[in-house]
Amino acid sequence: MKVILATPRGFCAGVIRAIEIVELALKKHGAPVYVRHEIVHNRHVVESLKAKGARFVGTLDEIPAGAITIFSAHGVAQAVEDEARSRGLPFLDATCPLVAKVHNQGRRYRAQGREIVLIGHAGHPEVEGTLGRIEGKVHLIQTVADVAKLALPDDTPLAYVTQTTLSLDDTRAIITALERRFSDVVGPDTRDICYATQNRQGAVRELAQNVDMILVVGSNNSSNSNRLREIGEESGVPSYLIADETKIDPVWLRGVGTIGLTAGASAPEVLIERVIDRLAEWHAVDVSTMAGREENIHFRLPAELVES
Ligand code: SF4
Repeated sequence: MKVILATPRGFCAGVIRAIEIVELALKKHGAPVYVRHEIVHNRHVVESLKAKGARFVGTLDEIPAGAITIFSAHGVAQAVEDEARSRGLPFLDATCPLVAKVHNQGRRYRAQGREIVLIGHAGHPEVEGTLGRIEGKVHLIQTVADVAKLALPDDTPLAYVTQTTLSLDDTRAIITALERRFSDVVGPDTRDICYATQNRQGAVRELAQNVDMILVVGSNNSSNSNRLREIGEESGVPSYLIADETKIDPVWLRGVGTIGLTAGASAPEVLIERVIDRLAEWHAVDVSTMAGREENIHFRLPAELVES
């Protein structure tokens, strides 16, 4: 059985930075440090940081006074940051700089007096954070059909921003629908969304041309991992999202000659290795890596951690 690894796959620069922030905070301040929400959507990452002394909480009131507090890569609403200040919690912000860029874009459009539309999934922490970083009402839409439901006159000056982990294709269809309905619509270049999301999605599309089945390693609640699976499926290849090697159903492998293997932006490479090992227990595997786009993006760490 052949296994082709997608390039790129797995950790993006935003996830690497968020994990480093927790690790450096532990090193500098000692355990425990408190992280609001899963630092990134991956159980394996969360468990390994827990073992080092990170404590994960849903709300700030679970954090004792004065304890080091870290905001996750998804970003948080302004109200959460304000609450941390008012409680006197010393906080480090692990929000991915590309998510922070979306917050800034939204605020800039608001300053221009535009109604703001956010294209994203209701309830996702990144969306909650973005809604809470742009002053005033933000219209959250998830589908093309939602565009018709917007209770706004068609000549309203409108601007859109998007969740970073959506598929470019989905976003494009919604943006086209916005532009068809409204006469004055502006938004950032969609190619600008997130390099990691685009590269991983592009790699899956390419992979799908050459494989019989796709396995995506990633957590169920990881938006970008779910999109990778959907893209595989849309490309006509049976595709499965698996948290780790234990979730592979051997039945899937029947009649499969070549498997494409990739991982969401929050899934560590060790999980890919474990999947290969599990496949190798069942079949002789021949592993190769597709040629793909190289990534060499690094985001700067907060100065207070680097100086220590
Ligand atoms: S997927 Fe993109 S936006 Fe999300 S953390 Fe990674 S680099 Fe940042």
